[in-house]
Amino acid sequence: MAQIDNLPPLREVIATHDLQAKKSLGQNFLLDLNLTARIARAAGDLPGSDVLEVGPGPGGLTRGLLAEGARRVLAIEKDARCLPALAEIAAAYPGKLEVINADALEINPLDHLTPPIKVVANLPYNVGTELLVRWLTPEVWPPVWSTLTLMFQKEVAERIVAKPGSKAYGRLALLAQWRCEAKIVLTLPPGAFTPPPKIDSAVVHLKALPEPRFPAPAKQLERVVAAAFNQRRKMLRAALKGLDKNIEARLERLGIAPTARAEEIGLEDFCALARDLQQNRP
Ligand code: SAM
Repeated sequence: MAQIDNLPPLREVIATHDLQAKKSLGQNFLLDLNLTARIARAAGDLPGSDVLEVGPGPGGLTRGLLAEGARRVLAIEKDARCLPALAEIAAAYPGKLEVINADALEINPLDHLTPPIKVVANLPYNVGTELLVRWLTPEVWPPVWSTLTLMFQKEVAERIVAKPGSKAYGRLALLAQWRCEAKIVLTLPPGAFTPPPKIDSAVVHLKALPEPRFPAPAKQLERVVAAAFNQRRKMLRAALKGLDKNIEARLERLGIAPTARAEEIGLEDFCALARDLQQNRP
């Protein structure tokens, strides 16, 4: 295995600091530093960017990001057991790495960084989707970040890049492709992780568009697509009844068939419905 820095191999780091993986924290570690450097490179221009990493764990990806020349890395880790290992990395890269021991859902780490900002993370499966949706739905666009390079379970990655009409198309595809270009850049088998998860994983790269493909209020759009796809087998007039008891008339006025199902509706129509619900509140 090629050496990317002068720090000990990750297996040794894990043994020294007794970092037994905890399932409750979604801990599946990447120990191959060639692989973490590859993920870091997929993020693009690191020397010109601040980087947010959620869940550095023992620091494999963190080391990849620093070895690839990231201007600065802010790493948010919930598990305090990882802090001594991360402190060793900070010492090897003076002034480059800041670690915050916190739950990434409870702080806004993007406030601590200077744009351009890249988010790069091997996300814990239990909070990954929630963080992604938050990053995709600020009211103001473009966001403070320029790209997101994120590892998910492969099935979630496929939902993010899914095309209209496919089975995987839904809330995540709509929200991601509304404001970003999204593509899968790397697929990894379970054996790439310690311990191995049950399923394949994939890295998705999302690049923020200068403006959304269609205008819409973000939180309203999020509500609409969540309601529509939560009951994707139902007709829209039933699935969206909770948003407006007169939804059928509203859909007709907008030229959207009330009998259509969510997967038959394109992004442009969802955006029009979200705008209308915002402007003409039920
Ligand atoms: N980046 C490391 C790697 O690639 O080997 C670890 C990835 S592991 C899939 C996910 C990491 O996220 C774990 O270190 C876990 O402790 C951390 N984590 C879990 N929930 C978190 C949360 N809410 N906020 C911050 N970190 C969290």
